Amino acid sequence: MLVFPPLAAAQKPAILAVFAHPDDETTVGPLLVRYAKAGHPVYLATITSGQKGVTPHGGIPAGDELGAAREKELRCACQALGIHEPLLLQFQDQGISVPPAMDKIRARLREIVNEVKPAVMITWGPDGLTGHPDHRMASSLATEVFQQRAPLAHRPRKLYYVAWPESKFVNPPPPFDRRPPGTVADVFVTTEVDGNAYLEPARKALQCHKTQYQPAQMEAMFDLTAKAQEGKVFLRLALTDLRRPSGRERDILEGVQ
Ligand SMILES: [Zn+2]
Repeated sequence: MLVFPPLAAAQKPAILAVFAHPDDETTVGPLLVRYAKAGHPVYLATITSGQKGVTPHGGIPAGDELGAAREKELRCACQALGIHEPLLLQFQDQGISVPPAMDKIRARLREIVNEVKPAVMITWGPDGLTGHPDHRMASSLATEVFQQRAPLAHRPRKLYYVAWPESKFVNPPPPFDRRPPGTVADVFVTTEVDGNAYLEPARKALQCHKTQYQPAQMEAMFDLTAKAQEGKVFLRLALTDLRRPSGRERDILEGVQ
């Protein structure tokens, strides 16, 4: 009897998130879970290893040992989110805003795009959400890679920026004592993805980042998604070669699949 190998399942459109540090992915955690569970290949590229993320409770000084610990935490988070192993670029925390690093990161991101073939990319806005210079640079480089089509063998269709709607942060909860720079007027929010069914895996992923947060801080962080944003992940569609939606989208793959 002849045994045929199973037909390869049709590949669903892939998603690539690009951020600066291990734990940055937390802001879109429920969204990543949602699309991974729906069978989409979901990838996270993290540019630095967070080697300077020293905390009083973490007990690890800045440097490679902390970077290695945070890479391990990021692997734990990706597993909890149900997405692919993180793509670790391993640049220096707070060392990416210099031309030689920027050139290398751009080249590496292009390789990743050509390799994992995302239909959609997600990153911060130019604000970097919290204003952190590494976050701003991650946004800048991911945007450049998306917008320069000639060097890409694979061309993603949509680029989204994380967007915390101003209306949800009138009284921002800790750790923000003021509106983070990344809040944007609601009129600019194009997209909301309901993550309510995916909050628990997202919470577990956040809990992997033990060097960064103590349990109470994790809960406060998590409340930014679960309570302040009502379990939704808000985004703005920055660039696309597809027709723009007329109303607010509920699905980042609208028009792609
Ligand atoms: Zn960060």
